[in-house]
Amino acid sequence: MVVRFWGVRGSIPSPPKSSELQEKLLRILEISQGIDLSTSEKRKKFLESIEEKYTTFLGGNTPCVELQSESTRLIFDMGSGLRDLGREIMHTHGGRDIELHMFVGHTHWDHIQGFPFFIPAYSPKTTINFYHRHPELKSRLEGQQQFQYFPVSLDIMLSKRIYNELTEGQVLQISDLTVRNIELNHPGKAYGYRVEKDGKSFVYASDSEYSNLPSERIKKYIEFYQGADVLIFDAPYSFSEEIEKINWGHSSAIIGTDLAVEAKVKKLVLFHHAPENDDEEVNRLLNTALNYKNRNYPDSELNIILAREGSDIII
Ligand SMILES: [Zn+2]
Ligand SMILES: [Zn+2]
Repeated sequence: MVVRFWGVRGSIPSPPKSSELQEKLLRILEISQGIDLSTSEKRKKFLESIEEKYTTFLGGNTPCVELQSESTRLIFDMGSGLRDLGREIMHTHGGRDIELHMFVGHTHWDHIQGFPFFIPAYSPKTTINFYHRHPELKSRLEGQQQFQYFPVSLDIMLSKRIYNELTEGQVLQISDLTVRNIELNHPGKAYGYRVEKDGKSFVYASDSEYSNLPSERIKKYIEFYQGADVLIFDAPYSFSEEIEKINWGHSSAIIGTDLAVEAKVKKLVLFHHAPENDDEEVNRLLNTALNYKNRNYPDSELNIILAREGSDIII
């Protein structure tokens, strides 16, 4: 299975600012002092040798994560990152039929706003299988494309769309993938998904708060995340913000670390970065979590990374 990140930012698209680029360039110039950069090959090699955080951006698109297993394509959430995924799908599929499996976590804007710009949805050769727990998903998507808000209504899109409403505890089979769902703790409800294949597992759990939950509910999440090779975890807050923003429906890397260690997760991927945090701040949150893990769980082999737009994880 290959996981690809198309949108990793929460709440609202937030492109990087020129000042952030200048900071990165300044840092690169400092690091390059005394290094021979006389040819383009040497310059390229130098850029590849320095930390990724200086040469890339985490990305400003809202949530969209793809999971590919051979020819089966699962998509988790339809944030603004979905637009680029749509372009890639059109580019690689050529004139052939397209079948997609779209898992909807919830319908806050940042998780559905990419759909009107998703080019495959306009093609009669595309079938989109939606999987969702909110009963009125279709009318919510129609609402987003009412003419007051968007010029093209949903029923003009030529793709075939099938709405599969899931139930609690349902075990879904899509080719050789098994998918389970869980209700997350978020205003208006959100849902997480766990995909398994040949003993490997992937969990997408964006938009959830844990600090205000009783221990029985926490236990349910630890069971759901148990042993996951990859856990995509909602972590826009610092620990102090998490205490301040009770009932806002989001979490922090610190809580993520506690849960992931307890559930014996292998890779914790911090996701839904806050739009007000630049890359440097998000990296600071990662370092805080790494220090916290080393201090509190020195024997844990948990790997913690940041979700970065355009990056892949192979499971
Ligand atoms: Zn969100
Ligand atoms: Zn939300």
